[in-house]
Amino acid sequence: MPITFDFTDKVVFITGAGSGIGRATAEAFAAAGADVAVTDTTDEPLRETARLVEAYGRRAFVALCDVTDGRSIEDAVTAAGDTLGPIDIAVNNAGIEQPPTPLAETSEDEFDRLMAVDLRGVFLSMKYEVLAMGERGGSIVNISSGAGVVGIKGQAAYAAAKHGILGMAKSAALDYAAQGIQINAICPGIIETPMMDRFSGGTPEGRARVIAQEPIGRMGTTEEIASAVLWLSSDLGGFAVGHALVVDGGQTIGIS
Ligand code: NAD
Repeated sequence: MPITFDFTDKVVFITGAGSGIGRATAEAFAAAGADVAVTDTTDEPLRETARLVEAYGRRAFVALCDVTDGRSIEDAVTAAGDTLGPIDIAVNNAGIEQPPTPLAETSEDEFDRLMAVDLRGVFLSMKYEVLAMGERGGSIVNISSGAGVVGIKGQAAYAAAKHGILGMAKSAALDYAAQGIQINAICPGIIETPMMDRFSGGTPEGRARVIAQEPIGRMGTTEEIASAVLWLSSDLGGFAVGHALVVDGGQTIGIS
């Protein structure tokens, strides 16, 4: 029996939707019939994501939203709900990378910046999404990282934030499972995105260095992460609660 995703008339809210995994996830939900609220810190890339959503005949709602600012998230969640209808699914994807730096050389400001976006941003997003979903229930998928399940040299602050997402998601999943809000996380490996381009330097040598971490011998695609988000958010994924789904080409399974 073919298994297809059907999100017809569902409303999806995505942070960091102007690029990479967030944009691909918006497009995948639209292709499966959903209307999508796309949010990020800059307007122009969001307009392009909205165009991709609308190309599937679905409605897109664009909101500027900085996940470090609770008020900004609350406003975006409210405006999305007012325009598209109550939010059924939220994807907390916004994040920033840490240029490789040993712990003691990481400045206090840099640590705080990473925590503000990559950890506190997910806390604030979940907080206002849960409040908006209320008794209707829904699904929340948080984007962690391979750095959420193993340590990575030069990534102490980023890994702390990404490990933190998993503890927070598991705990919140227990808070709201009985209320019908299903909370999970995904841990992607090395994925071909603008973030990974910046991280690797985008040079053939830099790309080869990051691909060397991947037993599968290539980077993952944004669609390979988006499809995992769709599964977790679908009825078929309904029994996954507080799960950290590692989708990483084998990057974190052991020493090879
Ligand atoms: P990306 O840089 O292409 O996209 C991230 C988006 O988040 C950008 O559009 C950016 O503007 C937005 N963003 C940054 N700060 C924000 C803020 N304060 N408020 C709202 N939006 C903000 O990156 P990506 O590779 O698509 O990464 C998406 C998520 O996946 C991130 O959480 C990242 O940590 C995670 N991740 C990526 C990889 C990878 O290899 N690319 C691997 C593991 C995890």
